[in-house]
Amino acid sequence: CTPGGPKVREENILVTVRMRPLSSRELAAYDLVAWEITDENTIVSKNLYHERHGGTYSFDKVFDPTCSTRKVYEDGARDVALSALNGINATIFAYGQTSSGKTFTMRGVTENAVKDIYEHIKFTREREFLLKFSALEIYNETVVDLLNRESGPLRLLDDPEKGGTIVEKLIEEVIKDDQHLRHLISICEAQRQVGETALNDKSSRSHQIIRLTIESSLREDSGCVKSFLASLNLVDLAGSERATQANTDGTRLKEGSHINRSLLTLTTVIRKLSCGKRSGHIPYRDSKLTRILQTSLGGNARTAIICTMSPALSHVEQSRNTLSFATSAK
Ligand code: ADP
Ligand code: MG
Repeated sequence: CTPGGPKVREENILVTVRMRPLSSRELAAYDLVAWEITDENTIVSKNLYHERHGGTYSFDKVFDPTCSTRKVYEDGARDVALSALNGINATIFAYGQTSSGKTFTMRGVTENAVKDIYEHIKFTREREFLLKFSALEIYNETVVDLLNRESGPLRLLDDPEKGGTIVEKLIEEVIKDDQHLRHLISICEAQRQVGETALNDKSSRSHQIIRLTIESSLREDSGCVKSFLASLNLVDLAGSERATQANTDGTRLKEGSHINRSLLTLTTVIRKLSCGKRSGHIPYRDSKLTRILQTSLGGNARTAIICTMSPALSHVEQSRNTLSFATSAK
């Protein structure tokens, strides 16, 4: 029983797709819209050739360019976010090529999740809550604390007590209230810009994880003593072009410079998890990102994957890659 907890749907992996509007650059180049959203679950390629060769894709929800981030949050992330209040680890991530709208979407999702969580805390009188905040960035398989960049690369250690992985020396701030939480998020956003100009392409190569740890216990007078502990991970991933071998024109790029180990491992882990429990070994240990998220992916954990894509014909190959990943994650 989870007295006072929010009621949420309980599928393990929720997969949605969000198509952004054509950008001003795409409009200026007279780019065309390559996709049609035929109902709230289905997206279809406008290319007749593709259509005859499997150009129809279905998901838990498909959000068209007019959908607000509020709607994306409510239908694509809310149930997963709130399950962390019930003691169930949760991960929400945006997956898609660079400039498809991952950061835009995750900012909005985070804002909405913070609002929702505090609303629930306010109305859950029978429980006492303690929230903690931490945030990190993974760039080139190096982990950095977004609340304290100076601490340098952080080591990952196995957690002998609870299993999973501890990020050594990562700052965990106790959150005072929702305003404090918003302040911490804005510090991380500013920190994420550091090195952006010096390191070419940094935002397309780095992953950001914002982690809220939510602890709660039932007050004594309610009869049964029970405590809950879970983390909610909000993840803005590197561009998905870093998980595919071929560039849009089909040329193979040099592996080391292009492929992102954490992203590639994450896609493998998600695919294996979606195949069900009997799919054997899950390679969590192959990358920093999957080690850090291990206890929040698979098992009892809940995952929401929001795949973002450009509507443009010029990006159609990358969008198809994104939709195939989304299909394999269901
Ligand atoms: P990514 O993080 O995937 O590289 P961004 O989130 O930075 O992409 O989005 C690229 C640009 O498109 C930004 O200027 C952003 O404001 C805009 N954008 C993305 N998604 C939407 C959307 N759904 N509606 C309006 N503008 C969007
Ligand atoms: Mg981004």
